[in-house]
Amino acid sequence: MVSENDDLILIAGPCAVESKDQLLSLASQIKYLGFDFLRGGAFKPRTDPKDFQGLGEKALDFLLEAKQMFGLKVVTEVLGPQQIELVSKVADILQIGTRNMFNYELLKAIARLQPDKTILLKRGFSATKKELLGSIAYLKEHGHKGEIIVCERGIRTFSNGEYDRFTLDVSFIADLKADKNFPYKVIVDPSHAAGRSDLVEPLTLAGISAGADGFIIEVKEQGSKPLVDGKQAVTVEDLKRIKNKVLEIVGLR
Ligand code: PEP
Ligand code: MN
Repeated sequence: MVSENDDLILIAGPCAVESKDQLLSLASQIKYLGFDFLRGGAFKPRTDPKDFQGLGEKALDFLLEAKQMFGLKVVTEVLGPQQIELVSKVADILQIGTRNMFNYELLKAIARLQPDKTILLKRGFSATKKELLGSIAYLKEHGHKGEIIVCERGIRTFSNGEYDRFTLDVSFIADLKADKNFPYKVIVDPSHAAGRSDLVEPLTLAGISAGADGFIIEVKEQGSKPLVDGKQAVTVEDLKRIKNKVLEIVGLR
């Protein structure tokens, strides 16, 4: 873990795994910063079907290599029931994306096939608290017993891309953390909310100040042009600075 506070969940990595070199290079730098968790999409849920959909199984092989080489835990998304077993061979944490929070058949299948797997459940971008609790209930009702980590990644509001990609709902984080009946960890994803690398730091710090138990941040190699979500990716140097500020805030809590 990245601090004395072993409860913090700090995840970083590329939006999508693009090549072995890209992944191993970023993974080694993230490990060097003291991170435990590496993110990287193998199967990408893209708005345009013509856009890069991820390297699929090949990406899973690269993630496995990074995991074995650096001792990092892997966080990667599962898009459909047919991928659960395959992705779970590599993933330490199964990510359920914002578009799939309402995919009850996927939730049921994960609960049945991977009852002990840690899940990163991203809030649907227009999901209410009741709906989020409903998705968690689907997992539980269908036999999931492992840890569930909830992720606030921004919601649809009237900003509509004018200055951010989605609106980071800091109140939601504060509310969940204040809710005595909500036993799950909550992390902030500033990257998908910001849509811009320069907003990632302030949004991260806002989320952590509101009580978030960690973050998931997209990174890129300096000067590179990622195939997915490039504008919001920060450099490893930025990540280091953000992590240090986060640890300062956590120290004040
Ligand atoms: C991602 O983490 O790359 C991603 C697609 O996130 P979300 O489901 O929040 O859009
Ligand atoms: Mn992304």
